[in-house]
Amino acid sequence: MSPPECLFCRIVADGDHVHKAEGFVAIRDINPKAKVHLLVLPERHVETFRDVGEFPEAEAKRMLEFVADTARGVGLEDYRVIVNVGPGGGQTIFHLHWHVLGGGLREFA
Ligand code: AMP
Ligand code: ZN
Repeated sequence: MSPPECLFCRIVADGDHVHKAEGFVAIRDINPKAKVHLLVLPERHVETFRDVGEFPEAEAKRMLEFVADTARGVGLEDYRVIVNVGPGGGQTIFHLHWHVLGGGLREFA
């Protein structure tokens, strides 16, 4: 299911992608918290990391590889990967996404 009101479903379909593979895209965070701040979005609408089991096994593995490929693709060797889970964990958009931060890290609140 991809709810029409989901911002990240719309960005997956029709956004400015810095990297793309089957089932996944990476975009630039609109409010970067580091010199490089990308978001990896799976095409599949899964609300939170808690529901990661909704991904078929092979797709879950490819998602992790895509996170690493995305970082490598923008020249990052050392970086931070963050997933905020639920409002108490800082999640504001309820379509699973992986933050990739690098190139001079600042504290990520
Ligand atoms: P989270 O707080 O983990 O749910 O992360 C949501 C992230 O999405 C935040 O870092 C926002 O800056 C970012 N964001 C919100 N709207 C957009 C947008 N239209 N394009 C790119 N990033 C966005
Ligand atoms: Zn969505």
